[in-house]
Amino acid sequence: MVEEEEVVIVGAGIVGLATAVALKGLGIRALILERAKGLQATGAALTLFSNAWLALDVSQAHFHLFSC
Ligand SMILES: Cc1cc2nc3c(=O)[nH]c(=O)nc-3n(C[C@H](O)[C@H](O)[C@H](O)COP(=O)(O)OP(=O)(O)OC[C@H]3O[C@@H](n4cnc5c(N)ncnc54)[C@H](O)[C@@H]3O)c2cc1C
Repeated sequence: MVEEEEVVIVGAGIVGLATAVALKGLGIRALILERAKGLQATGAALTLFSNAWLALDVSQAHFHLFSC
């Protein structure tokens, strides 16, 4: 039997990946489509405002992140 994803996410940026993690926590499978061939370094640091921390907290994706 072929398993099918219930959700398709376009873009493997932090939003797409966080959405996939949150959906997985709800038992929903997601297929992530990314057009880039690899990772690209841009910017100097990861800035997370309070609403971003809240979203990561809710999705339980925060456990390896610490504010400084
Ligand atoms: C030059 C620059 C410097 C930055 N520096 C910082 C910084 O220092 N610190 C910081 O916190 N933030 C920085 N930012 C902001 C940060 O990059 C964004 O806020 C964050 O990446 C947004 O995440 P996102 O997942 O919404 O989008 P993105 O990270 O842009 O991810 C979207 C993904 O979707 C893919 N995609 C788009 N269209 C399609 C398609 N049709 N099919 C398949 N894949 C697709 C793209 O390839 C991309 O990988 C910077 C942004 C820029 C442009």
